[in-house]
Amino acid sequence: MAKQDFYEILGISKSATKAEIKKAYRKMAIKYHPDKNPGDTTAEENFKKAAEAYEILSDENKKARYDQYGHAAFDGPQGGGGFGGGGMNMDDIFSQFGDIFGGGGFGGFGSGGGHRQARVKGSNMRIRVKLTLEEIAKGVEKKVKVRRKVQASGVKYKTCTTCNGSGQVMRVTNTILGRMQTATTCSTCSGAGEIISSKPNGADAQGMVVKEETVPINIPAGVTEGVQLKVGGKGNDAPGKNSISGDLLVLIEEVPHETLKREGTNIHYDLYVNFSEAVLGTSKEVETVTGKVKIKIEPGTQSGKILRLKGKGLPSIERYGTGDFLIHTNVWTPQELNKEQKQFFEKMLDDDNFSPNPNKSDKSFFEKVKDMFS
Ligand SMILES: [Zn+2]
Repeated sequence: MAKQDFYEILGISKSATKAEIKKAYRKMAIKYHPDKNPGDTTAEENFKKAAEAYEILSDENKKARYDQYGHAAFDGPQGGGGFGGGGMNMDDIFSQFGDIFGGGGFGGFGSGGGHRQARVKGSNMRIRVKLTLEEIAKGVEKKVKVRRKVQASGVKYKTCTTCNGSGQVMRVTNTILGRMQTATTCSTCSGAGEIISSKPNGADAQGMVVKEETVPINIPAGVTEGVQLKVGGKGNDAPGKNSISGDLLVLIEEVPHETLKREGTNIHYDLYVNFSEAVLGTSKEVETVTGKVKIKIEPGTQSGKILRLKGKGLPSIERYGTGDFLIHTNVWTPQELNKEQKQFFEKMLDDDNFSPNPNKSDKSFFEKVKDMFS
């Protein structure tokens, strides 16, 4: 079906100025506004058409494209402003009105559009979930008990007679554009469009009861302290047949680990070996977040040496790889010696094998730390 010319829709000529375009649209918007034409689908169609025409003609770039190519400029996948698929929605249109009617100085047109059915949403609930590093490493399903407000079984609702179910009441006001209807939230039903006709014992004034429910929460691997997850529909319900449930917002807390330190997706671990182990070499078992790993300590290992276990850290929540597990080697120097030991070390004081000789090819401790953070 051929689309009607935008200039024709607004009843203006191609040479119309910006001010003339705006004025013409104001006229159309008032004439066809849904609040003034309840239930009139032709008026609504005209209202949408005018909004679409104004959206294009009020924008210099879009207007230039329209003048050159006509409707073809906005059709197809490259279509500007998303109009290819058939018109604007009401929210888009009402959001233009601040501009058209001068910053909300008019009580005339709310963004609600009284013709639409109100949907009341229940309130959100918030909980905190504590996770260990091990749980964060693999992801986990947590079952939490929540006390939600739900509609009592057996509660019955009926259409609100004050607003006839629309959730809004009309008020006629006089403005410089003439008499206008203003939509305000119905005070009888608080906008729900429904009121209680009967409720069982134990339900509150809105027909709600508190119910304890176990909600499974799937927590993806790699979450961090302060991340908030949303479980849709597991907050409080709202009264009424048309209501929608609130959400359950889950705030992640990280339990500090006894031996591991998290740094983004990397994990740091301080390994202590005794003097003899550092001299002679040994193997050690290290507990990572995903299980035990056996590592080899080479003979002659220096304090500060860092062993990097690639991919044994935490996965990134954005799914770009997994961090590393970094083992910082600390050589424990004995603090007490018996007579025999003391004599041994005294003998070694001037021994060449005991004199520090940092190998040029072996990076110093600080260079390694720099590497790690770069
Ligand atoms: Zn009502």
